[in-house]
Amino acid sequence: MKNAYVNRIWEEVKAKNANEPEFLQAVEEVLTTLEPAVDKMPELEPNAILERMVEPERVIMFRVPWMDDAGNYHVNRGFRVQFNSAIGPYKGGLRFSKEVNLSVLKFLGFEQVLKNSLTTLPMGGGKGGSDFDPHGKSDKEVMRFCQSFMTELYRHIGADVDVPAGDKNVGGREIGYLFGQYKRIRDEYTGVLTGKGLTFGGSLIRTEATGYGLIYFAREMLKVKGQDFKGKTCVVSGSGNVAQYAAEKLIQLGAKVVTLSDSSGYIYDADGITQEKLDWVKELKCVKRGRISEYAKQFPSAKYFEGKKVWEVKCDCAFPCATQNELLEADAEMLLKNGCKLVAEGANMPSDNAAVAKFQAAKIMYAPGKASNAGGVATSGLEMSQNSERLSWSAAEVDAKLDSIMCNIHDNCLNTAKRFGLTDGEYINYQAGANIAGFVKVAEAMIAQGLV
Ligand code: GLU
Repeated sequence: MKNAYVNRIWEEVKAKNANEPEFLQAVEEVLTTLEPAVDKMPELEPNAILERMVEPERVIMFRVPWMDDAGNYHVNRGFRVQFNSAIGPYKGGLRFSKEVNLSVLKFLGFEQVLKNSLTTLPMGGGKGGSDFDPHGKSDKEVMRFCQSFMTELYRHIGADVDVPAGDKNVGGREIGYLFGQYKRIRDEYTGVLTGKGLTFGGSLIRTEATGYGLIYFAREMLKVKGQDFKGKTCVVSGSGNVAQYAAEKLIQLGAKVVTLSDSSGYIYDADGITQEKLDWVKELKCVKRGRISEYAKQFPSAKYFEGKKVWEVKCDCAFPCATQNELLEADAEMLLKNGCKLVAEGANMPSDNAAVAKFQAAKIMYAPGKASNAGGVATSGLEMSQNSERLSWSAAEVDAKLDSIMCNIHDNCLNTAKRFGLTDGEYINYQAGANIAGFVKVAEAMIAQGLV
């Protein structure tokens, strides 16, 4: 890194957080792209803005004891990382997964600050979760875990303080149990969580929002080049909430979606995934909680590839919608060799920094997750607004707002990239545009609020 201030911060972050590889990866990705802005903003260093941006305001870590159906006791670790509240209450999801640790949640919280800034809504950044994995647990076990988790978390959150939501393995079921326990302990009915059920304050389109928003963003990228999705072959990784609704919107816009995956492997459907097949997948994942391999048994046009990743499939556009670091340098090379021209991230940090460097060098259209997957949290922001005014908006109204927010985020990244000379002919560096645009707003708010 050439800028002396950026370089000093990077060295300090590495020394202080040596055991947190995911957090370091996320910080490195952002710092390397911020240099053009830092060069032009001499006020940052005397205000210690970068020092404060890389240090969470507060980290809460707690014990989560719970009992399984056989009466055995278990203990998991719970976290909430309250990263930055300069532009609004902390906002960000809860992830329940074996991989969860402080490094993962700090990377997610750090990215969430910039992502939420991009949405244009007044939300700070936070993230939380536990190393508890709901897979293979009964509904009652999940309920007892969620109740125990909230029995500690409730004292740290609130509708104007910190508003958690879902993330990996935390969906409508978990949010329902968490909300019930919060209400019971606090004796108050507020919008303290988003992603709630529609009967108790949830917003229409929140379930679809991350996936739909991703495709709205990618549609705008194509539009700049005078293109659209009609007839384009698309690979999607993952099969959870983000992947399902990304695939759905792609199908609606005339693309051919040929893959879905989970941590065991992927399915390739040569005929393309239709809405009917996708409805079957939704039932498989959300109700039966089964594996994606079952798709190939159900539909003869599909094949299952155990232990493989979707990036080996020839495509025009790729949408990583599973998890962090699912798309590495060799995968990026494979995509490029097969002619892929657009990569837009539905997951958080799915491409590692080496893979992103390949996309940038090849000058294809690349959308970083913190811009292209911001539709989920943006719609959470809309859920907060509806809860505050005690009204609920129609699906069409929420969808139109989501679409317009994604168009704004796209244009903001594009215009910021242009302003800082990060375009080259047809090529637009959306990655740097997103990081700079998200960062500048938070930095200005922090400077205005003094040393806090
Ligand atoms: N977990 C989602 C994200 O990564 C949504 C967070 C929210 O709705 O607060 O942005």
